[in-house]
Amino acid sequence: MHLSVIGSGIVGVCTAAWLQRDGHRVTFVDPLDAGEACSFGNAGSLSPSACLPVGMPGLWKQVPGWLADPLAPLTVRWAYLPRALPWLLRFLRHSRREEVVRIATALRGLLAPIFDSYGPLVERAGVGHLVRRSGCLYVYSSPAAAARWAFGMNLRRRLGVELREVGAEELQALEPDLQGRFRFGLLAPENGSTPDPAALVKALHAQCLRDGAVHLRERAAGFELAGREVRALKLASGERLAVDGVVVTAGAWSAPLARALGARVPLETQRGYHVTVRSSNLALSHTVMAVEDNLMVNPMAMGLRLAGSVEFAGLAAPPARARADVLLKKGRQIFPHLDTSDVSSWMGHRPCLPDSLPVIGRAPAATNAWLAFGHGHVGMCGGASTGREVAALVAGRVPQVDLHPFRAERFGAFGTYSPGRRGGGPGVAAAGAGGRA
Ligand SMILES: Cc1cc2nc3c(=O)[nH]c(=O)nc-3n(C[C@H](O)[C@H](O)[C@H](O)COP(=O)(O)OP(=O)(O)OC[C@H]3O[C@@H](n4cnc5c(N)ncnc54)[C@H](O)[C@@H]3O)c2cc1C
Repeated sequence: MHLSVIGSGIVGVCTAAWLQRDGHRVTFVDPLDAGEACSFGNAGSLSPSACLPVGMPGLWKQVPGWLADPLAPLTVRWAYLPRALPWLLRFLRHSRREEVVRIATALRGLLAPIFDSYGPLVERAGVGHLVRRSGCLYVYSSPAAAARWAFGMNLRRRLGVELREVGAEELQALEPDLQGRFRFGLLAPENGSTPDPAALVKALHAQCLRDGAVHLRERAAGFELAGREVRALKLASGERLAVDGVVVTAGAWSAPLARALGARVPLETQRGYHVTVRSSNLALSHTVMAVEDNLMVNPMAMGLRLAGSVEFAGLAAPPARARADVLLKKGRQIFPHLDTSDVSSWMGHRPCLPDSLPVIGRAPAATNAWLAFGHGHVGMCGGASTGREVAALVAGRVPQVDLHPFRAERFGAFGTYSPGRRGGGPGVAAAGAGGRA
């Protein structure tokens, strides 16, 4: 079959690679180069443990604080609040305990096979070094502080995640650069990360091209349907691309395309930021998650990446440089000896559904169209498994993961919600902060 994969972020590229393994011909359609949108500047964590939703029990108590503080780890820009409100209410409804257990169980199914599903792809592309299994340390100021997150950590354990308690002394031995600031940790030894998310996406994409894929620098604008069959892709240039099938992997921009295929999904962007400290003098050997600071720290090929932050402001608003500055400030607090003479910052659009689960499955209105987007905070973690499962659906094989929780139909007749208007372009450097990493 000739399949068009719309979007060349991590999800699109992995999907294409898995489809090619079944002998399909792939045409990427994306106005950007591969890995230039949200997949460009993320924290690079590849964590089978990252199965908890963003909305956890008790989160609602923090809502007034978010609204009052534009620099809070999670915030809503006032002007965007009316637009985001219906989505936020749904998001809070999914933060109930029983929902969290359901969501975590589903996500764990998708994320547990991270390394199995990346393995054949990175091997073929010859980039095994871009997926490392170096473990993640969740660090806390004290065991008492860690107890505040016990529900989530225990749930992770119940779902099979290995988490080993680490005392202050061992923490110091594992990561001397933490210099005793944290007194308790949980080591997730099975977690991994990539030292360069953009390079990983580009390398897998380059292999797809070597294996015969074509990349059209075009924006997909819609579909030409004959009954319930997609015959062609309508391109923004006015051209059409004849296809035997399509997969929508357009990240935070997927909603209008999904809608044209019969799926009304409440897709929102949770804007996230990074600061990359290119002058870093640290020698971290794990990904470090400073839980109380809501900061992920990952040693990367180009420097030390500090990432996090959730901002609701739509697709069009410019980046808020102050939010990146907060990440740098926290980084300096954790590592007072960090050389920050050379830093860059970035903002990306996480594609998010209110239940923190992606949409993966056949499109409701077409027999030869599939949807794979909305991976939120875990697109790097879930990209390869998603691609593997989409290829199984296309081939009519039984998926290895239970995909029922990911179907687009779970939102019912949601209505007309969509996040802001398209604008700014995917992945925009935070103004004045030194451009992209
Ligand atoms: C600060 C930050 C830190 C993060 N850290 C992590 C992490 O540590 N681990 C993790 O797993 N995840 C992390 N994430 C989330 C992860 O980056 C995303 O989930 C993932 O990149 C989404 O990939 P994607 O392929 O769906 O979308 P994208 O990478 O955004 O790609 C979508 C592509 O679709 C294209 N497109 C859009 N509209 C159209 C159209 N109409 N026609 C054709 N093409 C179109 C775009 O140009 C783009 O190239 C982080 C995100 C942020 C912002």
